Amino acid sequence: MIDTHVHLDDPSFDADREALWLRARAAGVRGALLVSVAPSTWAGTVEVARSLEGVRHALGIHPQVVPDMDDDTIDRALSLLPDELTRSGAIAVGECGLDGPSGDLDRQRKVLCRQLDVARSLSLPISLHVYKAHAMALEVLRAFGPLPAGGAVHSFSGSAEIARDYMRLGLAIAFAGSITRSNARRPLDAARAVPLDAILIETDAPFQPTGADARDRKRGEPADLSEVLSALAGARGVDEQTLAHATTENARRVFAGLAAAQGKNSNG
Ligand SMILES: [Zn+2]
Repeated sequence: MIDTHVHLDDPSFDADREALWLRARAAGVRGALLVSVAPSTWAGTVEVARSLEGVRHALGIHPQVVPDMDDDTIDRALSLLPDELTRSGAIAVGECGLDGPSGDLDRQRKVLCRQLDVARSLSLPISLHVYKAHAMALEVLRAFGPLPAGGAVHSFSGSAEIARDYMRLGLAIAFAGSITRSNARRPLDAARAVPLDAILIETDAPFQPTGADARDRKRGEPADLSEVLSALAGARGVDEQTLAHATTENARRVFAGLAAAQGKNSNG
């Protein structure tokens, strides 16, 4: 399996980062895309990705941090982004997107569009965060036009119909820990509507711990990916082996740099 969206640089992992990645590897997670949140932590993201076998990274500006950043800081970060991506060997732009509850959506939209420009000019895929802002996100993506390297909508929380809209725009759909909850009706409906060749899995760890009632766990970790896989397999009525194989192939296709990381590792 490949965890296509995880925050391994999160401070909650500082004490046991290596041990928990080894635990994930032992649980069958062979690779991961480490997705950054804010420009102030880009350097740390890169450092963590380099220190863990099979892990590659993405750089971007998370929509939730946009309201707290002033225009100058954002401008400076966005103008550095292409060089930082290239120099650090990033394999994607992210995470970027729109987050309804965070507010300031006009600025979020501008920051997203600038990151789409970067993704297009460098031919990199995106890891897209959209929460309670699907109508606006779809409008932005349609107006922007095709992304040469596509990408994925991470931790998808919308309806089956919205999933189809994103797929028409060339994006894959990734499911996270929320599909393991006892009340996960809508994401499971969406998970059934996504064809096998467009579906990805992720943990978004440390956020979104898995489990029927996740309130008793503070922190998710990449080893939980097998729970996401089995919830998804159950919903779709396929065996876990088939789904693991398909989602791994998809991850290597959508985030091509992950395939290279796997090759490098299997050669020693
Ligand atoms: Zn995330």
